[in-house]
Amino acid sequence: PVVPPVARDNPTAERPFKMRRLLTVAIDPGHGGEDPGAIGAAGSREKDVVLQIAHRLRAKIDAQPNMRAMMTRDADFFVPLNVRVQKARRVQADLFVSIHADAFLSPEARGASVFALSERGASSTAARWLANKENASDLIGGANMGNKDAQVARVLLDLSTTAQINDSLQVGKAVLGEIGGINKLHKARVEQAGFAVLKAPDIPSILIETAFISNPEEERKLNDNAHQEQLANAILKGIRSYFARNPPLSKNPSV
Ligand SMILES: [Zn+2]
Repeated sequence: PVVPPVARDNPTAERPFKMRRLLTVAIDPGHGGEDPGAIGAAGSREKDVVLQIAHRLRAKIDAQPNMRAMMTRDADFFVPLNVRVQKARRVQADLFVSIHADAFLSPEARGASVFALSERGASSTAARWLANKENASDLIGGANMGNKDAQVARVLLDLSTTAQINDSLQVGKAVLGEIGGINKLHKARVEQAGFAVLKAPDIPSILIETAFISNPEEERKLNDNAHQEQLANAILKGIRSYFARNPPLSKNPSV
């Protein structure tokens, strides 16, 4: 067969003879088991509605030819926050999406929000990652992490988390834009906070507050099949447009 020239100047160009890498998305339904999360006035539990939305998102991702989903929990059980991140790293996820429903004292609060990790949350975690030799060597591809390499590891970890936050803000923006098409937004921009589940230094990670379960109208929507479908579709669309603009490179740096 005649192999067409590869369009090297256009990284997003179609490459029909090259196998595309499967993109792995870790879906993290918040709470679970003895932790119900927030509870709405009508009695809906956050852990249940976010699991339903997550199942819908998983089905849509698995239906994509170039994507597969992994769930940090696929039933009603509790998973510690750090274990959720470990599960995503074990499958070398390209993206981590945590799904929650918000709550506030006032029932008027409404709308969806999307969060990425904050710089401060990242730097407070960096020290702990570096203290754990296994994490650190894992992070830089198995290179020997002797004492003399501590400085190098520090620099690599900082570069990695800065890139992670940048990527997370981009995917967050894409997802927030899509959700804005089907529901009110609580905040028009991606917010940043030190959420523990967003702290994998090498996986773009976002946390979606899909709506306020403490708002009676939004509680009803969160339980509505059609709205859950719309939410899952919006999240998928945001993820796809992010990947289309930022195709992940090879997992193994060719150093
Ligand atoms: Zn939550």
